[in-house]
Amino acid sequence: MKWDEVVDTDWNNWHWQLKNRVSSVEDLSQIVQLTPEELTGLTAKDRFRVDITPYFAQLIDPLDPNCPIRRQVIPLGQELQGFDGMMADSLAEDAQSPVPGLVHRYPDRVLMVVTTHCASYCRYCTRSRMVGEWDKTPTTADFERQLDYLRRNPCIRDVLISGGDPLTLSDTALRYLLGQLRAIEHIEIIRIGTRVPIFLPQRITPDLCNILKKFHPLWINIHTNHPKEITAEVSQSLTRLANAGIPLGNQSVLLAGINDSANIQQQLVHALVKNRVRPYYLYQCDLVEGSGHFRTSIAKGLEIIEQLQGYTSGYAVPKYVIDAPGGGGKVVVTPQTLLGRAADAGQGVLLRTYKGEIATYYEPPDYVGLSS
Ligand SMILES: *Cc1c(COP(=O)(O)O)cnc(C)c1O
Repeated sequence: MKWDEVVDTDWNNWHWQLKNRVSSVEDLSQIVQLTPEELTGLTAKDRFRVDITPYFAQLIDPLDPNCPIRRQVIPLGQELQGFDGMMADSLAEDAQSPVPGLVHRYPDRVLMVVTTHCASYCRYCTRSRMVGEWDKTPTTADFERQLDYLRRNPCIRDVLISGGDPLTLSDTALRYLLGQLRAIEHIEIIRIGTRVPIFLPQRITPDLCNILKKFHPLWINIHTNHPKEITAEVSQSLTRLANAGIPLGNQSVLLAGINDSANIQQQLVHALVKNRVRPYYLYQCDLVEGSGHFRTSIAKGLEIIEQLQGYTSGYAVPKYVIDAPGGGGKVVVTPQTLLGRAADAGQGVLLRTYKGEIATYYEPPDYVGLSS
C-alpha cells in the first residue's frame, strides 16, 4: 500500500494529511484499480477539483468500483453529462449575496463562505462553481465587508460559517473569525458546517476544541453519508467536539448507488446518535452541474423516512429536505400522515400511523388560541 512506510506522527498530523492529498491518475492508480469511467472523469478538461486526504483514500475498497467512499470523491465521466434543470448555481446563492460570500436568504440568519478550500472534494458539491478554486477564496477585504453587513443588520441572530470547509483554516484564523462574530451583540448563535471530522479527523485536536469552546453557543453540523465513514478516528474527533460542549448535527445527501437504501440510512443514523450526533437534514441532491447521476427519485427519500419514523428513535430521524432550485430555501418533504376528516366522526381527524393503521384524533369544537 502507498502509505505503508508513513510514520504515525506524520499520519496523525493534519498538515501532513493535507500536504499529501492524492488527485492525479498516477497517485490514484497506486491505491485503486481505476475504471475507464474514472479515467474519463479524472482526465476531463475543467473538471471540478479532485483532492483526497490519504486518511480518506485508504478507506476506499480498491477492487470495488461501487465502493461508497470511492464514489463520493473519485469522479466519473458521467459528471460531464447535462440534464434537465441543471444549473451552475442551482440555489441562486450569488443572486442572494448582498456582499461577496454572504448569502442572506432567510430573515434571521445568514450563510458565510469563509474559504473555498476543503479537505477533500465531494463530487456532488453544491458550490462546485467556486469551491476548490483557490483564487475565489474570500479575501480579508471581503471578510471585513461581510462583518460590516452583519453589524449593520440587527435582524441576523444566527450565522452559519461555511465554505469550502471552515475547519481547514488555521487555529489563528478561526480564533480571529469567531472573535469578530462574537463581538457583534445581536448574533446569538454561531454554527459551523464542516466535513473535516470525516475527511480529516486529525484536524480535531484538543487545541482546536479549546478554541471552539470559548465561543459558545456554538453549534456544528458535520456532513456524512455512509456508515463506513464513521471510523474509530472519526468517533474520537466527534467525542472531542461533543466534550467541548458543542451540539452536533449531521447533514447527509441522498446519493444514488451510495446511500439510497433504508438499511444503509438506518445504520448511518444509529452510528451517528451513538456518537452524540443528531441527524439534522437528509438532502435531496441539488440540480448542480456534475451531479446528475447522483440524483434519486423523491419517492425514494420518502420511503427511507417512512422506514425510519416510528421504527427507530425519533432523535435518529432526519428531516428530508429539498433545497428549492432558484433560492426559495429548504422545503421539508414528509410522508402523508394527515388523511383528512372522517365523514361521520364530528371533529375527528384521520391519521395514518407508522404501521399504516388509521387513528382518529378529536379536536375541540370551541378552541380559541392565544391572540399573538
Ligand atoms: C441552509 C441554509 C441556512 C440554514 O438553514 P436552517 O434550516 O436554519 O438550517 C441559512 N442560509 C442559507 C443560505 C442556507 O442555505
